Amino acid sequence: MNIIDGRIVRDARIANLKERLTTLSYIPTLAIIQVGDRTDSTAFIRAKKTFASNIGVKENHIKVEESISQRELIDIVKGCNIDPTIHGIIVQLPLPLHIEQDAIIDAIDPRKDADGLTAINTKRWLEGREDCVMPATARGIRELLSYYHIDLFGKPVTVIGRSMLVGKPIAAMCLNENATVTVCHSKTPNLAEETTKADILIVAVGKPGLIQAIHVKKGAVVIDVGITRITTDSLVGDVNFESVKDIAGAISPVPGGVGPMTVCALFENLLDLCKAV
Ligand code: NAP
Repeated sequence: MNIIDGRIVRDARIANLKERLTTLSYIPTLAIIQVGDRTDSTAFIRAKKTFASNIGVKENHIKVEESISQRELIDIVKGCNIDPTIHGIIVQLPLPLHIEQDAIIDAIDPRKDADGLTAINTKRWLEGREDCVMPATARGIRELLSYYHIDLFGKPVTVIGRSMLVGKPIAAMCLNENATVTVCHSKTPNLAEETTKADILIVAVGKPGLIQAIHVKKGAVVIDVGITRITTDSLVGDVNFESVKDIAGAISPVPGGVGPMTVCALFENLLDLCKAV
């Protein structure tokens, strides 16, 4: 069994990102809007800020109280839209329940939509258009598979999870790469029946240990997208690594698999937005 190592691939792509930065006449800035103080959001933002500083991109971390109103938050997003010193915007999700997530995301100017989640970008990546910003997790997985020469073309791929943020963009990306895609979710009656058909199994659920040996076809590639924080410093994925390791042909571990690629892909999106201006 081989390890699909996102840290190696991320590090290999950093040189390219730095090279692309030298072609710009300015240093791009990513606005990161955080509402409230969720520990997981703070940890994800820390990783993004560290990456930004590593490649030489500026970030503007705008942190607001959890009690902020939807109107006030939209005004902050719109302020970033018209600020010429800001080139990309992300709103760290999830948002508090009193705020309608779609209203905030769709307030982002699609030309600054670094997460690729606005309605306009969503339509474009669903259509498989080139002129879209693809959500970072899907883009990161595409690049991870490509680095390891794992071709999606014509392959049976099963994606578990159908959220707008993760599962659906991944499924759309695989479809756009000409895979034959099955999407499973919490109402799928026999998960193992669907997952064992897959040459490439991509799991994006958030339930540690959900995927065991019985779910994996011999030699399959298993991409574990799930991240569950067990303690402040310890993360686990959705795949029971010990159970699956003798059956799978390759596995992306957690941590060190999809996570680093997602952060890298976000900044690749940012540079694409800069190029488009
Ligand atoms: P989510 O919105 O909670 O969606 C979870 C999905 O899993 C839903 O589609 C749900 O089905 C499905 N599901 C739940 N229980 C299931 C079961 N027993 N069998 C099959 N499917 C089941 O979560 P999310 O935002 O998509 O995130 C998923 C995971 O990815 C989380 O662990 C998150 O932390 C992680 N994540 C990782 C990265 C990264 O870079 N590695 C980036 C973003 C997110 P229903 O639709 O039927 O409810």
